[in-house]
Parts: sequence; C-alpha cells; structure tokens
Amino acid sequence: MSNEQVIWDRLISAGLTPAGAAGLLGNLQAESGLRPDNLQNTCEAKLGFTDEGYTVAVDNGCYTDFADDRAGYGLAQWTHPTRKAALLAFARANGASIGNLDMQVSYLLHELQTLFKPLWDKLCTTDSVRDASDAVLLDFERPASVNNPDKLQETKDTRAVYAQWYYARFAQEEESESMKLLECILTASDCYKAGQTIKPQGVMVHSTGANNPLLRRYVQPIAATPDREELLTQLGTNPNGNHWNQSRVYIYTDKTRTVGYRDYSKNLDQVLYEPCVHAFIGKLADGSVAAVQTLPWEHRGWHCGVGAKGTANDTHISFEICEDALTDPVYFNQAYQAAVELTAMLCREYGLDPLADGVVICHQDGYKRGVASNHGDVYNWFPKHGKTMDDFRADVVRSMNNENEEEEDMPTYKTLKDVPEHFRPTIQKLMEDGSLVGEKDPDPTRLDDNIINVSYDYCRIMTTLDRRGDLH
Ligand SMILES: [Zn+2]
Repeated sequence: MSNEQVIWDRLISAGLTPAGAAGLLGNLQAESGLRPDNLQNTCEAKLGFTDEGYTVAVDNGCYTDFADDRAGYGLAQWTHPTRKAALLAFARANGASIGNLDMQVSYLLHELQTLFKPLWDKLCTTDSVRDASDAVLLDFERPASVNNPDKLQETKDTRAVYAQWYYARFAQEEESESMKLLECILTASDCYKAGQTIKPQGVMVHSTGANNPLLRRYVQPIAATPDREELLTQLGTNPNGNHWNQSRVYIYTDKTRTVGYRDYSKNLDQVLYEPCVHAFIGKLADGSVAAVQTLPWEHRGWHCGVGAKGTANDTHISFEICEDALTDPVYFNQAYQAAVELTAMLCREYGLDPLADGVVICHQDGYKRGVASNHGDVYNWFPKHGKTMDDFRADVVRSMNNENEEEEDMPTYKTLKDVPEHFRPTIQKLMEDGSLVGEKDPDPTRLDDNIINVSYDYCRIMTTLDRRGDLH
C-alpha cells in the first residue's frame, strides 16, 4: 500500500474529516513528499548524510545530534529541538526506526491531540479543504515564509492544490465509485493458505472459459468469513458446493481453454492447475454485475500457470470475468466496464501505467510474453463484442482520467525550475536520459530553460515509479 493511502486511512480512522485529512496530507506532501525518512535537502550536504545514512546513524546511536541539529526530518519535516527530541523518544519507546511511517503517523496524531488541540478539533470537524490546509500550514508547520506575505500566499496556494488533489483522489473517489466492489476473501483455498506475497507490477485479465456468469459459482463465504449472511444474500448460494473457497479445487483444460472443473479425487491424466485469483466479476443474485475481491491484492495468486520465461503469478494481480454464452452484449458491456474500473483502481493504487509494456495484459498476452500457460482468454470473448486488449488499456486510462476530472485546475509546470523540489530530481533524470524531451523557449529574452509543460500528475506518477526503482 502506498504511503499516501496508509496515512489517509490512519487519519480518517483517527477521526479527521475527509477535508481535514486532505488538508493535512497536502501539507505533508509539500514538506516531505510523504517520505518518512526524508532529511531536509539543504541539510544533507551540511551534515554529510543521505536520507538513508542519517536514518541509520540515528537508529544505531552513532549520530547523537538528532534533536539539536535544526535539520528538518520526517513526514512533517520536524525541526524544532523540543519536537525532534520528543519524536526520537517516541520512536525509542515504540522500538521503531526514526524513519518508520506508522510510528511517525502515531507521533503526528499524538502531537495534534496534545500540543495543537484547537487545530485537532478543527481537522475533526471542518468540511473545507482550503481552511484545513491553511490552518495546518499556519498553526502546525509554521514555515519560514510566515513573515513574508507574498511568499506565504504562494505557499498557501500550493499546499491547497495538493490538498484538493488528495481530496479528489480519496474522498470523491469513494463517493463517485460506480463499480460495486464486495469482499469475500477465499481463506479456505490452498492458494490463500500458501500465504505468499507479491509486489504488484501489473494486472492480468482472465475470463473463466465456462458458461456461468453467476459469481456464486466461484465465490462463497465460509463460516468464518466476515459479513457471511450479507454476502450470501448478495451472491446467492452455490447449490453444488463446487466454489473456490475450499481446498483442492482443480481446473482441467485442453490447453487452449478451460473445459471444466473437478475435484482432486478424479483421475489426473489431463492438464490441471489449482486456481485462485484476486477478484471475480460476474452477476450477483439479483442479476446486477459486481466485482468481488477474493484475495488480498498483494497476495500471490495462482492464476496463469507457467510460461517459457516464468510466471506472472509472481508479478500480476489477477481477476476472472465470469463468462456467459458469450453472445449477450448487455452483460458483456457491464462486465467489461467493471473490469475497466477495477483495473483503473488497481493501477492508481499501485502507481502502475496501464499503457506501459506488459503491465495490463490478459492470459493470452501473458502466454505470448512467456509468463503464462497457453490459454485463449480473453480473446475468445472480447473480439465478439468489438473489443481488443488495446481498447481495454485505453479505456483504463480514460477511466483513470475521468476520476481526475475534478482536478482540471491542477498546475502544469512550464520548465524544470517550476517543478516542485521533491519532484525535480526525477524530472531532471528523465530529461537527461531523453525520456522527457523539452523544447527551447522561442522567446530568447525570457527564459533559458527548456519548456517541458509537465503536469503535477505526471511528476507524481513518475516520481512514484522512480522511488520504486521502476524507471530504467
Ligand atoms: Zn486465464
């Protein structure tokens, strides 16, 4: 889970309103890029430390000047000796690294509740993102620009933009969600019990290869599943007991498509594999189309077998779309749309670019790339309704952009100099290796910097990929 999601979830569960959480998150973004081990850039040279080196030296006790060195550090770039000393004591008391995200969020909440009570009360009651953002800046962060009205206004505006972005991303997203997403984790499956995890690098789309669009065929709660009764009402009950929330579920196939399912006790002369995916899309008992999450997203699924070069089980989140007789355009369009939205949600959550090579693929794409067994899905179905995987990827991008429509006033940065400091190293790197090409400003009297016109969103996505080591 991304740092921003972790922080957002903790602020909301601590009682902040969505507007209050967005105002705080926007300020933290501006302070640290949401990196808990971030040492103030201007202090790195002065102290002779990188972020990592400083964090390690504080943790192992080699560096003893943490509280008094006046170097901003952590999510909120704590600088004042009293606050840094208290942060260090809090980390030690919790046996956590000084750069630990959870610990810093706990300390931040503790500071707000004890030292900044009026601000805390405001963040727990406000419905104005702008008010929340300004209040955090003035009462909590107290930046150097406080004594310079022009600079202060600029800082306020920048932070409010960040805050609005988070509000659009987390709060409005929840309100405008049109895809219905339930959760019924298949905890009795062998795959779940294997307990392996992945770092998601893509999404693989499957379709079941069997004429049964009902989710209840595959997804059923067991006695221990949370909200079991409600799930059974929504899904309906599988009368045949052949769902996937049990041990020893096997698929047999004729190598190009699934031809059936059977249990382990029958003969084993055909190609078999044990399946489990992260989600299913299909019909609920009332006939409406929904998605159900069936594994934690970072669990290693068993969904695509092995190809010549390995297996996307190690890299891709997977879901099955329940096939019907493949001729009903209404069901296809509803299921396709849910698949687009689910994929868009996962790409946003994991900072994935749906158009990048090998990121959003179907089972057959995976076979051709050497990372999956030879199955035909989804090309046995999508083309019957005029869709290719290229269309699918383009629709995922469109869905991601639609969800960002509220952010039309997000800034575009004309030159590298305009790019906020925490994004600049990544953007510079992209310019240096030629991935991002600028053009010379046609007005020679104005600027000597190349015009790049990159958006906040672009900077953010590229920086996320850069931090994860996914760029080059
Ligand atoms: Zn498949």
